[in-house]
Amino acid sequence: MLDKLIDDYLRLLARATGAFASFKDAAPEAVTCKPGCCECCVGLFEITPLDAEIVALASAQLPTAELARVRREAASQLEHLHAIESRVPVGRGVLGPAKKSPRVDFPVSFTERALSSLVSQVGNVRCPLLDDADRCALYPFRPLVCRLQGLPRVSRPCGVMSQEPGRPKGTKNLARLTREVDGIFGMEARMLSRYAKIVRARDAAHAVCFVATALA
Ligand code: SF4
Ligand code: SF4
Repeated sequence: MLDKLIDDYLRLLARATGAFASFKDAAPEAVTCKPGCCECCVGLFEITPLDAEIVALASAQLPTAELARVRREAASQLEHLHAIESRVPVGRGVLGPAKKSPRVDFPVSFTERALSSLVSQVGNVRCPLLDDADRCALYPFRPLVCRLQGLPRVSRPCGVMSQEPGRPKGTKNLARLTREVDGIFGMEARMLSRYAKIVRARDAAHAVCFVATALA
């Protein structure tokens, strides 16, 4: 059952990539993102357990040395987070492919306030998947939030965007983008409910994960 859900979620991720590309094609002046631009990969952000499952599974494809590097970074980041906020588990928080004994190990009870306090205390940490050349080591498997980052109204303005306050917003195409993104978030919520049923942990649908959680 989880394999089917993972396949469905990969299709949803592809849909999000398509939404980004379609908006960028229609309103290139409204999107500042380009290869090598990585400011949005610095600073802690939350991903869902489904994103974490995908990152965990896909990390097995990394070359050995790169996998060792991202695991080291992830473990060190989790220790740092745990020292600030003890509810962040230092070990891997996703279930992994075997699913023989469900183990939900992520901080399900995080409040918005606790999360935002953690984010501000931890500051400018690099995502463990950001490599030495400032590229995402698992770009084809990046989380949903990474695929929508940089779209006007959908994501918070990054440092690069906010330095260009007069930048056009692609107004003519915003309504279509908003509808599409609403549809994506609706499907994501339904898939997270399915995930919670599969892992037999109701709170898993709202669990907080980090990229590091999937890699340690
Ligand atoms: S969201 Fe901002 S920092 Fe990220 S790629 Fe786009 S312009 Fe660059
Ligand atoms: S997963 Fe990839 S795209 Fe997302 S923040 Fe990390 S390095 Fe950037």
